Amino acid sequence: VGDSKDYDSETESVCPFCGVGCLVSLKVKDGKVKYVEGINGPANEGRLCVKGRFGFDYIHHDHRLTKPLIRRDDAPAKGLNVDPGNLMTHFREATWEEAMEKAAGGMANLAQAHGGRAIAGFGSAKCTNEEAYLFQKLIRQGFKHNNVDHCTRLCHASSVAALIENVGSGAVTATFNEIENADVAITIGCNPIENHPVAATYFKQFAKRGGKLIVMDPRGVGMRKFADHMLQFRPGADVALLNSIMHVIVEEKLYDEQYIETYTENWEAEKAHLADFSPEKMEAISGIDPETIRDVARIYAGAKSALIFWGMGVSQHIHGTDNSRCLISLALMCGQVGRPGAGLHPLRGQNNVQGASDAGLIPMFLPDYQTVTDDQIRDNFTGVWGSDDFSNEKGLTVTEIVDQVYAGNIKGMYIQGENPAMSDPDAEHARDAFAKLDLMVVQDIFLTETANYADVILPASALYEKSGTVSNTNRQVQMVRPAVAPPGEAREDWAITTELAQRLGLGWTYTHPSEIFAEMKLNMKSLNNITWDRLKTETVTYPSLSPTDPGQAVVFGDGFPRPDGRARFTPAAVIAPDEAPDADFPMIMTTGRQLEHWHTGSMTRRSKVLDAVEPEANCSLHPKTLRRLGVEPGEMVRLSTRRGSIEIMARADRAIAEDMVFVPFAYVEAAANVLTNPAIDPYGKIPEFKFSAVKVEKATAI
Ligand code: SF4
Repeated sequence: VGDSKDYDSETESVCPFCGVGCLVSLKVKDGKVKYVEGINGPANEGRLCVKGRFGFDYIHHDHRLTKPLIRRDDAPAKGLNVDPGNLMTHFREATWEEAMEKAAGGMANLAQAHGGRAIAGFGSAKCTNEEAYLFQKLIRQGFKHNNVDHCTRLCHASSVAALIENVGSGAVTATFNEIENADVAITIGCNPIENHPVAATYFKQFAKRGGKLIVMDPRGVGMRKFADHMLQFRPGADVALLNSIMHVIVEEKLYDEQYIETYTENWEAEKAHLADFSPEKMEAISGIDPETIRDVARIYAGAKSALIFWGMGVSQHIHGTDNSRCLISLALMCGQVGRPGAGLHPLRGQNNVQGASDAGLIPMFLPDYQTVTDDQIRDNFTGVWGSDDFSNEKGLTVTEIVDQVYAGNIKGMYIQGENPAMSDPDAEHARDAFAKLDLMVVQDIFLTETANYADVILPASALYEKSGTVSNTNRQVQMVRPAVAPPGEAREDWAITTELAQRLGLGWTYTHPSEIFAEMKLNMKSLNNITWDRLKTETVTYPSLSPTDPGQAVVFGDGFPRPDGRARFTPAAVIAPDEAPDADFPMIMTTGRQLEHWHTGSMTRRSKVLDAVEPEANCSLHPKTLRRLGVEPGEMVRLSTRRGSIEIMARADRAIAEDMVFVPFAYVEAAANVLTNPAIDPYGKIPEFKFSAVKVEKATAI
């Protein structure tokens, strides 16, 4: 970190990586970001993790896309075969005019020949709220259907489904900072020290102050060092574990009768359902002894104020919605919602996955989670848009769209800032599907693995090059500002989408993101009292009750946005993971992120510091497992599932169970998602990334 004299200008913005939403000050010299400091945002109070502090230089990497590209007529067959440093064997440079005409004209031709449903779109949780709003608007207004989605489908769609179903809102009920007011906190299926590192600092402080922290996870995640109880349960046993905790609360009458009576419905059904889940009976499934279950139940139910935090270990299962239903029921039966230090908090992944979901970048909801099936709601939007009605059918989700591409029913895709060739389950299937498209328009800052399959590539802007707003896991809306100009001819995403819409004849006239934000406010009550001008000088948490209210850190203190103001108990049965380990695939694979690398690695692997710290694809196995396999730490293993195989360097990790392997999904040379299971949760439609049956062998033995 330099001193105050070693930069030309400084700009305040928001970290582009995780959902914590740390505010940063970008120090710029000679047109480049030289270093980054944390500033006093409500979510970070000056703190940054290694990604926020050192992971900024990807924006100046020489792989940045600086001109529009069009696939060459004599290009080799589509595949994962483009060298990012030598694109020209596959693509040729084009003018914006030519590229936009090929993109918009190509989409229009496909829609004319096959109907609007021949086109589908993946927007981005990496873009701003305004850009997410425009993306969903383009698909709905331009092609008259709802086949538009984004990576929320791969992270917390099941949590959102359960929250909307049972408390009436898909966002957190309390900010993570509320842990300051709690005396008990549960973290389950999350690894905040690596994935939400600045939020984790608040959790550690809580534990050091004497707060009781209960950590539940099949992996021995780092937070266990701060925990009163660490419940390392069997993978996929979330419902058995949580129902057994709730069984004890019912059996010992530890629940909050008055709260249940006043604010909830379906309690009798939940109570009856739980009778069958004694800790003694569930131990065989969860692997947790009954006495620990009873301790944890008494601690949580006896708390003055308690929070539950969860991550993708909960959501990424075929029973992900059931897992969240259990967490919601646990909080409701103990009255642990709607007070300072009490609530439900799914830790959102991407920097703007909350905002992109709020802005309607999902197939079943318009902005503010207003259903597409309601005629009046669609009318409200088309009235503002000045356009005809569009389909009242819920659209297809990410994996459903890929399946329809593979089947030949979707022939064109517009993909903005997402990398499904790396992030989708059974990635080879997704890649094979993309190779079949007649037209793939990719808008991104790098030649991602997905862009390898593109016909037209539109060079876009990184977050530190654009204006707009983003919303973090805390429901806090914050402004991003351009510190530097986009490289070459690259443009801001909202401007590219606007021009595409103009060329599709949609009559858009936006000249600045503030105009888009103003339009969003017309049909998004969540933005009441939040104005562009306010956001220039402050962070506002939604809901904000007045033009001077900084927003409500805790919601639902006096009822829920559901019929009769009551939250609902939805009982959940134990459902086995989609595929069981067997003689051919005897172990369990789980996937996730590492501290230094963000998602599919397109940004962080192009950051010098982060890549130097973590340069090589790796997986984690218990030392005893390595010994059994005859593998030394640092040697290569071969992982095989029913979908494919990869070879990857093995690390020893005592915290992982002996029959498990953890594989980060950031590395294209050993892509975890070649192995993952595409089976989905029936409600949230989220794939089961957290459980695949796998065979592990020493690579040299093959
Ligand atoms: Fe960025 Fe998240 Fe790290 Fe904060 S915690 S600096 S938002 S990656």
